[in-house]
Amino acid sequence: LDGAVLVTGGAGYIGSHAVLALLDAGHRVVVIDNLTTGFAWAVDRRATLIQGNIEDDGLVRAALRDHDVRAIMHFAGSIIVPESVTDPLKYYRNNTVASRALLESAVVCGVRHFIFSSTAATYGTPEKVPVSEGDPTVPINPYGTSKLMTEIMLRDVAAAHPINYCALRYFNVAGADPEGRTGQSTAGATHLIKIAVEAATGKRETVGVFGTDYDTPDGTGVRDYIHVSDLAAAHVAALDLLVAQPARSHVLNAGYGRGFSVLEVLDAVDRVTNMKLERVVQGRRPGDAGALVADNRAILATLDWKPARDDLDMIVRDALAWERALQQRS
Ligand code: UDP
Repeated sequence: LDGAVLVTGGAGYIGSHAVLALLDAGHRVVVIDNLTTGFAWAVDRRATLIQGNIEDDGLVRAALRDHDVRAIMHFAGSIIVPESVTDPLKYYRNNTVASRALLESAVVCGVRHFIFSSTAATYGTPEKVPVSEGDPTVPINPYGTSKLMTEIMLRDVAAAHPINYCALRYFNVAGADPEGRTGQSTAGATHLIKIAVEAATGKRETVGVFGTDYDTPDGTGVRDYIHVSDLAAAHVAALDLLVAQPARSHVLNAGYGRGFSVLEVLDAVDRVTNMKLERVVQGRRPGDAGALVADNRAILATLDWKPARDDLDMIVRDALAWERALQQRS
């Protein structure tokens, strides 16, 4: 790339993996992160870290100009579905309003390419599974709505200005860098695999199973778990495509196209640890869909990318290794 890549939220879970993937591919990387949930140590030393908010136009525009930024990967935001139900305005501020400010800075400073962390939560409860990009987007929680609103802004901005974008609709991201350089580190986990590996390492006693009466084979929620390093590689491939075809933009599901239930995930953790997690059946969690699985034909056909780590046990092993390293650290 003729210029640098700005990674917002590059000190966070997925962002720190994307920073590694970009650097390993030879890109120059600048990170902006306010470090509310991210960690400075999670940002590889080869990248430049600027602490600040993406709504801070002065800070962002100076960074875009000083570092000759050509492309933005936008990870910064709030990501917890149940929290978005109880505190929706936080999600409209941190996701929608902040993205609007960042986009305006991108346009003003002539940034050419924009890659956005979107989510399968934009679909809500899909009419059919696997769900494809052209299916209706009817979010069932403010998190999904806040991200969909940004997709809509991107569509309109790309039609009006010389910028193209790729919105990647993430399914369930899990695992950690196989080389142990970064992983999911934020306290107060709500995501299933993180919670399960915390339980497996003695950080918590039990794992709650949120709902056993969904319309799924075993009644528990089914999700499409994708390894974070595969997802990071998809971002680099998306950047390559946006550069090669500057007149085209894309909305792509980022998943493997197969689902595992909550019980299947917990069984995988048991297999990997050779222990037995204690499961506690609880009621449904507000805002949760029953099954969410990607139709991933579009991303496979569009990007020069193939899943390399489509293996639930591998995802769990990498998540577990990081969890152990993280607990050693503190
Ligand atoms: N889940 C669960 N127990 C937990 C956390 C999650 O049973 O402690 C379920 C949740 O209801 C959903 C699936 O696991 O069916 C994945 O939830 P997660 O929070 O990991 O991701 P989400 O799909 O909500 O983004």
